[in-house]
Amino acid sequence: MIYTVVFIILIGFIVYAFILMKPKPVKQIPNHWHNLLLENVLFYKRLTVANQKIFRNRIALFLAEINIDGVNTTIDDLDKILIASSAIIPVFGFNQWSYNNLSGIIVYPDSFNKDLQFSDMDKDRKILGMVGTGRYEKQMILSKKAIRLAFNNKTDKHNTPVHEFVHLLDKMDGETDGVPKYFLGKEFIQPWLELMHTEMESINNDTSDIRKYGGTSQAEFFAVASEYFFERPKLFKQKHPELYKMLSLCFQQPKQS
Ligand SMILES: [Zn+2]
Repeated sequence: MIYTVVFIILIGFIVYAFILMKPKPVKQIPNHWHNLLLENVLFYKRLTVANQKIFRNRIALFLAEINIDGVNTTIDDLDKILIASSAIIPVFGFNQWSYNNLSGIIVYPDSFNKDLQFSDMDKDRKILGMVGTGRYEKQMILSKKAIRLAFNNKTDKHNTPVHEFVHLLDKMDGETDGVPKYFLGKEFIQPWLELMHTEMESINNDTSDIRKYGGTSQAEFFAVASEYFFERPKLFKQKHPELYKMLSLCFQQPKQS
């Protein structure tokens, strides 16, 4: 009798442990999300059908891992899709990727200031997105307006959420310094620095079509050039072949399928 009880308890424990060990289930993306992606995310539209399926799964995985909270704003399916797409676009070249340096995303209705205030009364509300530090370590703060704008305008080479996720990738080696050591081989670091400095000079001399903000620091250059690379790949390749080669190497994109 006692053996039967022990046996049952043991089985129960094994089943319980198995349930605990099972990875968090990925919420299936509803069918209509495919259309939302087609309508709103040009990057997705350009993918092959097989890669679109992979992209959808990667989005589902991202949304299962990362919390998204709206402050004074609601978060609907489209917001979730656009945020998750921005996260997956820069890492789509890698077979898998978890943003270990991110646990949650806070979405504000509009632009905010450096004290994270966003009401009409607050001054200097110019920030559209940022990677949190200190109390906000592992958090990303985005403006809902900037998220929508990033995907509405498909020709402006500008995408705030993608920009912020590129900062997170830059930060993988411990420093957000525009030198993605985690991704670029050692031998490419010096050529990348040289290329970056030449191009930053062009930006600051008004002779580049890369957004002005990219001239303010190496970190911003890397993020701004990456926005352009993902938003207008053909134009970027044509105007900046060397940079294009380097960013392709860094992000392992375009993905070969
Ligand atoms: Zn930035």
